[in-house]
Amino acid sequence: MALLVQKFGGTSVADPERMRAVADHVARTVRRGNQVVVVISAMGKETDELLRLAREVSETRPGREMDMLITAGERKAMSLLCMAIADRGVPAESFTGSQAGFLTDSTHMDAKIVDVRPERVREALDRGSVAVVGGAQGISPERNITFLGRGGSDTTAVALAHALGADVCELYTDVSGVFTTDPRVVDDARKLTTISFDELMEMTANGCPKPAMRSVEYARTHGVDLHVRSAFTWEPGTRVTKEDDDMEQAIVSAVVHDASDAKVTIGGVEDRPGIAARVFRALAGEQVSVDLIVQNTSEAGRTDISFTVPDDELATAMAVCEREAAAVGADEVTGDPDIARISVIGAGMKTHPGVAATVFETLAAHDINILMIASSAIRISVVVAVEQAEQAIQVLHDGFRLDEGPAYID
Ligand code: ASP
Ligand code: MG
Repeated sequence: MALLVQKFGGTSVADPERMRAVADHVARTVRRGNQVVVVISAMGKETDELLRLAREVSETRPGREMDMLITAGERKAMSLLCMAIADRGVPAESFTGSQAGFLTDSTHMDAKIVDVRPERVREALDRGSVAVVGGAQGISPERNITFLGRGGSDTTAVALAHALGADVCELYTDVSGVFTTDPRVVDDARKLTTISFDELMEMTANGCPKPAMRSVEYARTHGVDLHVRSAFTWEPGTRVTKEDDDMEQAIVSAVVHDASDAKVTIGGVEDRPGIAARVFRALAGEQVSVDLIVQNTSEAGRTDISFTVPDDELATAMAVCEREAAAVGADEVTGDPDIARISVIGAGMKTHPGVAATVFETLAAHDINILMIASSAIRISVVVAVEQAEQAIQVLHDGFRLDEGPAYID
């Protein structure tokens, strides 16, 4: 008998018909002799709708009340699902995050899990029930209800799987797994059968929207095996596990993209100790999150510093840099929101030279200019103009023959 955690996203339970389809699947899993814990998201666009209502009603939107409001979405979904499961002759009990033992910090709208004590979930399983837990929620030390943030249900599922010692955490969604690239951009994007935590972590940190990055990080830290799969076709999806040293590793597994960043360049800054420290301290002071930083070698004692920031922080970043540039005597500050970061990811590139060269040659052959470059042990990222992004993704996907399966070391 296996213990499974099955998480269903909002589109998987968007309407009564979808609810019944999910209930069928859960009941079927139980009849096959498994114990099942379900983690559920709010139905369809419910979370957005609750956020919209709050904006219409209130200017101040106190955090405590926002969390109480938003977590109501999951509460509605979990009780409805239990009713549908009960109709199929399988006992099911719903639990809020707090009832399921999710202890969090007090950061409203973005609470972090501190501990999971799922006694009541275990008792329900022992009684032969399916436990259905509301995703993305917990309780703070002050005993207020907290919300774990957008995409928090994935983290609930992984944390619960870890706390219960579940055999696997299945993340059911509206796509059939993790793909070699965004199937909306490249027709022959292929579903991966397996991928390592490290690779998926790099993918979600560099633009792959699902599963939520925090949940992948949690799964990697605690070694919780994941299975990302479809709640529509129910076909086997992508298994995410620890990298196996004996396994053949793909040189390149996926190409991901992120167009939500903008680029800032401070031109003609003096090349002496303390300038970068001063500029980036000032940016941090304004809560600007900086990624990908590049400094040129200097010419005649002057250099350029470029970095990326989220699009919606560009205005703040520009204001800070203009102020600092004036103070340190830099020539100019320019900002460009129309960029995209394309990242090529694969565990095998650690031990295989030439991947960066292939990335650059492939882009050069198609006249795609690279604005910035960054890399980690298993990732090469380039920043290109946003209008060339789709072409860059396509040619890299073709170049590494990802449509034929990942490129392996021979
Ligand atoms: N329903 C919330 C959201 O859409 C949390 C979640 O289910 O992950 O972000
Ligand atoms: Mg952009």
